[in-house]
Amino acid sequence: MAGVTGRVPLIAGNWKMNLDHLQAIAFVQKLAWTLKDAGHDYRETEVAIFPPFTDLRSVQTLISADKYEIEFGGQDLSQHDSGAYTGEVSGAFLAALESKYVLIGHSERRSYHAETDEVVAAKVQAALRHKLVPIICVGETAEDLEAFGPSAVPVKQLRDALAGVPADSEIVVAYEPVWAIGSGQAASPEQAEQVAAALRGLLGEVLSPETAAATRILYGGSVKAANIAGFLREPNVDGALVGGASLDLKEFSSIVRFRKHVGA
Ligand code: PEP
Repeated sequence: MAGVTGRVPLIAGNWKMNLDHLQAIAFVQKLAWTLKDAGHDYRETEVAIFPPFTDLRSVQTLISADKYEIEFGGQDLSQHDSGAYTGEVSGAFLAALESKYVLIGHSERRSYHAETDEVVAAKVQAALRHKLVPIICVGETAEDLEAFGPSAVPVKQLRDALAGVPADSEIVVAYEPVWAIGSGQAASPEQAEQVAAALRGLLGEVLSPETAAATRILYGGSVKAANIAGFLREPNVDGALVGGASLDLKEFSSIVRFRKHVGA
């Protein structure tokens, strides 16, 4: 259910480099059964998982055969469509596997693989060419926070990522303060809301007011069942990108069922 904003919350699990294809099959089955037993309505809260590339075919086959409503996508894609790019994965291949989403510009890609804002922008273009919905990850480091305050760096990263993006594009934005990722120290809901509001303002300026109003902005960084409700109470936070806790079936299912904690 979209609520007053018209935006259906999205809970996305970034598995990072965890779970091989056999473990992935077992996990997705258990997740689907757990959510079914809990009476989860996917129209009320969308669920997406981001397994390693080698799992995607198995996950697609299972989801399609058993008609699960869980969405999935890649953790990255190439800015190129095909050719001599050893080790890269094309958006065309992700689309052929019925991926709906793709993560772009995760802080681990930016810091360990030297992804610049220009590369992130090229990858957003590649995703849109293949009709994938890019989940554009932005966020400041602890040093950025100290030097520039909370929203300057994420807003600049998003502005750069949106270069050349058509005004009516479907995108998702994930605000993930780097200092909160995997640290156990989540931002406060108020901090997340402040940056999400600034990001939505930028979407209105660069794309259109309608697209800004329709675009989901997720918070990511040490999200758990115990803190999800606080984030989802904020008017500009439309879901979560979950790392570590997405590998724990009980914890992730409970995050997906956040409305029970919110009491809505
Ligand atoms: C992430 O990697 O996107 C993330 C938010 O990780 P964690 O939830 O473990 O902080």
